[in-house]
Amino acid sequence: AKPRTRSAALYTEALEHIVGGVNSPSRSFKAVGGGAPVFMKRGQGAYFWDEDDNRYIDYLAAYGPIILGHAHPHVTSAIVRAAENGTLYGTPTELEIRFARMLKEAIPSLDKVRFVNSGTEAVMTTIRVARAYTGRNKIIKFAGCYHGHSDLVLVAAGSGPSTLGIPDSAGIPVSIAHEVITVPFNDLAALDAALERWGSDVAAVMVEPIVGNFGMVMPKPGFLEGLCSAARRNGSLVIYDEVITAFRFHYGAASTFAGLPEGTDYAAIEPDLTALGKIIGGGLPIGAYGGRAEIMAQVAPLGPAYQAGTMAGNPASISAGIACLEALREPGTYERLDRLSAMLEAGLAEGARKHGIALTVNRIRGALSTHFCDHPVTNYDEAQDTDGEQFAAFFRYMLEDGICLAPSKYEAWFLTTAHTDEDVAYTIEAANRAFARMKA
Ligand code: PMP
Repeated sequence: AKPRTRSAALYTEALEHIVGGVNSPSRSFKAVGGGAPVFMKRGQGAYFWDEDDNRYIDYLAAYGPIILGHAHPHVTSAIVRAAENGTLYGTPTELEIRFARMLKEAIPSLDKVRFVNSGTEAVMTTIRVARAYTGRNKIIKFAGCYHGHSDLVLVAAGSGPSTLGIPDSAGIPVSIAHEVITVPFNDLAALDAALERWGSDVAAVMVEPIVGNFGMVMPKPGFLEGLCSAARRNGSLVIYDEVITAFRFHYGAASTFAGLPEGTDYAAIEPDLTALGKIIGGGLPIGAYGGRAEIMAQVAPLGPAYQAGTMAGNPASISAGIACLEALREPGTYERLDRLSAMLEAGLAEGARKHGIALTVNRIRGALSTHFCDHPVTNYDEAQDTDGEQFAAFFRYMLEDGICLAPSKYEAWFLTTAHTDEDVAYTIEAANRAFARMKA
């Protein structure tokens, strides 16, 4: 690898002008020992090139959206066509109807949708709509699930299931954090206790049905059924944050994914509202939310819950999203992602075993997470209780070897349709070299 001198220089310059040198804190290398993040200048297929002309195999996939790899020709030409016709109208367009239909066909719980510009906005609005519909204020969320950076969901657990939340960021009033109750994922008893205590105030229970934010974590058998029935008994809505998960494992939502635990009662786990983002924008900014018609009727101009957006539904994002879903509909897409990631999982697990390194790999189709620990990871506590220093060392060795991962022990690796068997084989070799160096 060539020394990343240009990245280092650009980082110094960026620090002068951009707060922290990055436009999202997750891009900094703070969690992996600090220093200059790598500045990329080009992405093509499964690869990145940095400013010093090093090539990387990309498993960051921009934190999820780039499931087709970078600059996929079908998406690129849709974006170019959209740009040539004007990128922003401020009027309705037929494209939006087409895309709404595609989403509804893939995710049957969406009677009505609304496009916004980010996952954060989508989630934020589902909460407003749930509050408007129920006339209640509180929400219950699960520890370690990330739902964007709006006030209500940047709240951490209080000291037990019957305490209210505490702000996870400066600038969030304690009064707002007190509208949120955080319970452990996969823990129905804790959810029941919270509902027992705060039930008549709870507008909604919000969850990533399959977690993507503290590793890839499956709901335990019966968890989603129990969550939905407890919420409904209580008159609360169920909101699924599928910003990471929709179209990730199959052409549809996690809540309709055949790979949920055996025996899942799919009719019993239908959400009232769903938040979408990432993949559905094909790499351009987007979010969407939707759900039952009766609930969505709360939204302006039909109803009293206000939500708007200058950029919402812009032809460029919508065109990229349509093209991305069209490409994902190609037969064999998800089987390919699954096959490559199974190969990667097997190689990582075997390498770690061979080198005597404790590693838990959670894999769900084309997404996997690597936790340096010797226990399963089924909730946030278990994900926190993993070796961050080992991850940081692994991350840096992999980077030196041309493998780009997210700089956080909690983030997933994403396969794209552009990755090849050779890319995965090389990645396994690199991981083996990294494990050997970690042991030495
Ligand atoms: N929800 C989930 C589950 C997410 O993973 C994210 C982003 N990582 C968001 C919401 C927020 O999306 P955005 O960054 O587009 O605002």
